[in-house]
Amino acid sequence: MVKQQVDHGQTRIPLSKWVHTQTDVHIPILMYHDINTGNSLQMPEQQLNNQMHWLKDAGYYFLSPKEAYIALTQNKLPQKKVVWVTFDDGYKSMFTKGLPIFKAVGAYVTINLITSTLNDPQKCPLQINKAQMDKMVAATRTTVSMESHTVSHLDMNTMPLAQQQKEMADSRTELRQLLHQPILTVAYPAGHYDADSVTAAKEAGYKMALTTTPGLATASQGLLQLHRVRINPGLDKDQYLELVKTGY
Ligand SMILES: [Zn+2]
Repeated sequence: MVKQQVDHGQTRIPLSKWVHTQTDVHIPILMYHDINTGNSLQMPEQQLNNQMHWLKDAGYYFLSPKEAYIALTQNKLPQKKVVWVTFDDGYKSMFTKGLPIFKAVGAYVTINLITSTLNDPQKCPLQINKAQMDKMVAATRTTVSMESHTVSHLDMNTMPLAQQQKEMADSRTELRQLLHQPILTVAYPAGHYDADSVTAAKEAGYKMALTTTPGLATASQGLLQLHRVRINPGLDKDQYLELVKTGY
């Protein structure tokens, strides 16, 4: 039986070909949520499709979390234009609407999952469940990375340290067990975090944590306090590419 070819992503540039940069590496980490229409956190499918094609046509290289980590910590890049595309909350639309777009473009993307909803899909019917996550992983192999958005999606900065530690550690353990791969990243729910959150993320073993502070990400922010570029609907091509380039 011929093994089905499922790797459809952009060709990877091996690390040996990456080039050290003169100045500190800055990466646009794009922040998306649902693929849908309705409010500013929802990106209509057609607009997302256009945006992923704009990135590809403009020559952007889609980073995996591991590649982003190497770029930020070793100050080198596979090529000049890079982008890290992230989706928070693990909506079902990742599977139904996102996957065909990611495949068509060859985009590498990262989905930050809330692990409590994986276990209890009744709790939030909008989020992908375990079976759908498995299907998505099988259909994409390396191009879609699953990372953490904590267990319960609560505001970290309202909790004592011990509870934050549990939210961080339990979600990472769960994802590692389900996916059998390293989990490098956590995205702070709603971008709310404090000094304890940074401590808890570090102790739980995350190498990077994503905030909602606007701008390009660079190592001097702290790898556990990386800035992101929020993408609101309604941007034309020039506006979108300018936002990706400058972070604002
Ligand atoms: Zn969220």
